[in-house]
Amino acid sequence: MTPKIAVIIWAIGLVAWVVIRIPHQRRARKTRVASNAKTLGDRLALAAATMGLSFIPIVFVATGFPAFADYPFQSWLGWLGFVVEVAFLCLFYASHRQLGRNWSVTLEIRQEHKLVTDGLYKFVRHPMYLSFWLWAIAQACLLPNVVAGAAGLVGVAILYFFRVPQEEAMMRATFGASYDDYARHTGRIVPKSW
Ligand code: SAH
Repeated sequence: MTPKIAVIIWAIGLVAWVVIRIPHQRRARKTRVASNAKTLGDRLALAAATMGLSFIPIVFVATGFPAFADYPFQSWLGWLGFVVEVAFLCLFYASHRQLGRNWSVTLEIRQEHKLVTDGLYKFVRHPMYLSFWLWAIAQACLLPNVVAGAAGLVGVAILYFFRVPQEEAMMRATFGASYDDYARHTGRIVPKSW
């Protein structure tokens, strides 16, 4: 693999992310919200993930900045990035489909919100956030620049560690014992029995 192909794979991943998300974003706009647990902190965490997974790598790919952080491209790392990118997109697509009308970009409970416990959600409580981790790992493998590579990992870490406790508290407040029982049988991003 060449550095150019690696950048193309990374760019296709970014476009695919937008294409997968658009119909869910449209439907979410039409689905009534019953309550929300949105905070300024959560918005900032989402902004950090967007910076790390989109803004900073786009600047790097478009301008080569910051060149001081470049390192020699490794073909095997590019191939690894490709495999992880495909896994990211599969997981991202499937988790949106399985959450259906219960999906929100922020912390919201929809009217007639149902607790999803099947499909990927039978194994882990946060398959979509797991897909974000894979996306960040793929980015770090595909872009041979320490800053652009690490930006995704830092952005996802901020979103994940800030949001997950709040999201789980919101789900617990809404679904009570059913969520406790669900959480007992699942891991956050790694299945429990592993
Ligand atoms: N954390 C999940 C979902 C991310 S989308 C994942 O990583 O796959 C965030 C929204 O999904 C939250 O606002 C919440 O309303 C909803 N949500 C999270 N887990 C859910 C579940 N098991 N069933 C239904 N809705 C869920």
